[in-house]
Amino acid sequence: TKKLAAAHAEGRATYSFEYFPPKTAQGVQNLYDRMDRMHAFGPAFIDVTWGAGGRLSNLTCEMIKVAQTTYGLETCMHLTCTDMEQSKLDDALTEAYNAGCTNILALRGDPPREKEKWEQAEGGFRYARDLVKYIKQKYGDHFDVGVAGYPEGPDEDTNADEHIAYLKEKVDAGGTYIITQMCYDADIFIEWAKKVRAAGIPDSVPIIPGIMPIQTHASFLRRANWTQCRVPPEWHEKLEPVKNDDVAVREVGKDLIADFCRKLLDSGITMHLHFYTMNLAVSTRMVLEELAVTPSSDSTDPTIKPLPWRQSLG
Ligand code: FAD
Repeated sequence: TKKLAAAHAEGRATYSFEYFPPKTAQGVQNLYDRMDRMHAFGPAFIDVTWGAGGRLSNLTCEMIKVAQTTYGLETCMHLTCTDMEQSKLDDALTEAYNAGCTNILALRGDPPREKEKWEQAEGGFRYARDLVKYIKQKYGDHFDVGVAGYPEGPDEDTNADEHIAYLKEKVDAGGTYIITQMCYDADIFIEWAKKVRAAGIPDSVPIIPGIMPIQTHASFLRRANWTQCRVPPEWHEKLEPVKNDDVAVREVGKDLIADFCRKLLDSGITMHLHFYTMNLAVSTRMVLEELAVTPSSDSTDPTIKPLPWRQSLG
């Protein structure tokens, strides 16, 4: 978070890329190549998700290590705490520590694939808050610990307003930044973020919006439906007529997402955008280029810094 704060103080927007562990060895190699190329876009950090219940956890740890040590990227490892023995948590934290990773996104976790509901492991943790506390107890300030926020509520048990109290507990336990579930409605996001601040979560804790770029019409609908996020009606009006043309969908989607990002940046609520890349480069790159915050796409020099946000808008 110090690195982000320093960039923001200079008026520079920052961004980060999220990846998930691919299923095959070839997929992993392809992703490493892509991560390396996407390094040239200038992300402040990259993060790697954690399979619910620890599925593919060795791969998450390995990807963090490779990204951190081979590609020289700043990394953030996701870590979930339910449906998993404590020893697995300890191993993961040790591996992250040894790899030089200094950021963990502490989560409760989705239910593992084969289960409908998540479960607390015996003697283990129940909420993300408990994991935040544990990491802080064990590692002091070595890790910057992030937590998840939900502008439209986390699940059917808790609405967005109720969850703000739990979000505050996570921050009070030691969380230093908030990354949100994907959202497509800027007004909902901005209103929610104001409530988060009004609840006493200080400006020093960045609220980082999760941005899901649009790749195809089908995946856009599926993900919006899966997370139950509101899609502004005009988005449907613009995407529906081109839905069978993937290139046109990406082009229209790029404008919609870039506009959404601009509204959030202009609101002053955030200076950082977190992209759910879905392990793909094109849509994320198109949005960044539209926002004019990134070095040119064919640049291979990872040291090029993003242009100052407001200046680059002209
Ligand atoms: P919590 O904040 O602990 O909340 C879980 C539930 O418990 C909510 O209903 C909340 O309202 C309730 N609650 C919290 N505290 C209390 C309390 N003190 N008393 C009573 N009720 C309480 N999942 C994965 O499996 N792997 C990933 O890599 C992953 N990455 C994610 C990244 C982001 C940015 C986001 C937003 C989510 C991610 N998830 C991931 C999904 C996440 O694990 C689920 O959304 C999970 O259901 C909730 O996790 P949490 O950390 O937000 O939980």
